[in-house]
Amino acid sequence: MSTTHPSADGEAPPAVAVADVTKSYNGRRAVDGITLDIRRGEFFGLLGPNGAGKSTLVEIMEGLRRADSGSVAVFGESPWPRNTGLLPRMGVQTQSSAFFVRQTVHEHLRTVAALFGAAPSAVDATLDSVGLSERRDVRVDDLSGGQRQRLAIASALVHGPELIFLDEPTAALDTEGRRDLWEVLRGLKAAGRTIVYTTHHLDEAEALCDRVGILVAGRLVVTDAPQHLIGTFGATSRLLVPLGRIDEQQAADLPGVDAVAVRGGHLVLETRATGRVLAALDALTGLDGVQTRTPSLEDVYLELTARHTPVAPGTDNQEQQA
Ligand code: ADP
Repeated sequence: MSTTHPSADGEAPPAVAVADVTKSYNGRRAVDGITLDIRRGEFFGLLGPNGAGKSTLVEIMEGLRRADSGSVAVFGESPWPRNTGLLPRMGVQTQSSAFFVRQTVHEHLRTVAALFGAAPSAVDATLDSVGLSERRDVRVDDLSGGQRQRLAIASALVHGPELIFLDEPTAALDTEGRRDLWEVLRGLKAAGRTIVYTTHHLDEAEALCDRVGILVAGRLVVTDAPQHLIGTFGATSRLLVPLGRIDEQQAADLPGVDAVAVRGGHLVLETRATGRVLAALDALTGLDGVQTRTPSLEDVYLELTARHTPVAPGTDNQEQQA
């Protein structure tokens, strides 16, 4: 059923190809020259602080917004102006997903499935996959926030799209609901679907994504696999030593220690040579109560967003918009 046009070299084009895309609102650049390919079958996470331009970029990919300049191709085709040929191949969940609130959960999803020409049999399977089977006869109006979120996700999945856009899909879910949804998303990836999603949960992005892109002030500051980013930017580990065991100067003098701080009842030793510092600590005071914190995607994220965030809104030295 694929209508993809092969590229010049005969390869299938990426799921999404974004080239030098910009978008301004009232003369302020929200998306500032972004180039990004999302591969078929990839689980891609778009990260960034509020206002970084994530929603705008995703809406441009979805064909819901028009870029001011640059180009976007989804499976080799432009999603703008509204490309009805692409609609069955894309599933979209947004923060403001619309519901038929007077219908029951099952009726709602059946309606959505019918709109997309999906088989009615897909409704039960999709409700089951997001853990809503037991709520099938409840009115949408009466769902909790987390259940509505799951229904929005089910509505994006029911027609079996190849490319799925999810905007903070786990935002309203409790820990258990988040973990359940992780399994749904992993299942979609295992089935070869392409997933583009935004999240503020860095642990989740680290666990799920093949690659993440970090967006700051409309610019993509890095795109890479989480583990590679951690290896590249988050090279320091932290050793937490209970206060009173050694003083700050002793800690700073240990071979391999890069920095020392006092935080939450601990001396925090930053190091790129964990083994060496642990050995020295062991000789000095023993290792009872010493904790090791390896770097995470969150460390990388915090460092990169701090480094790339303009000093104050409107005072960055980016070029003036046309
Ligand atoms: P994010 O999803 O990362 O929070 P957005 O894409 O929503 O970022 O917003 C990027 C910037 O564009 C913000 O400064 C936001 O205020 C602005 N913005 C977003 N949508 C609109 C709009 N419809 N009209 C005017 N400004 C907007």
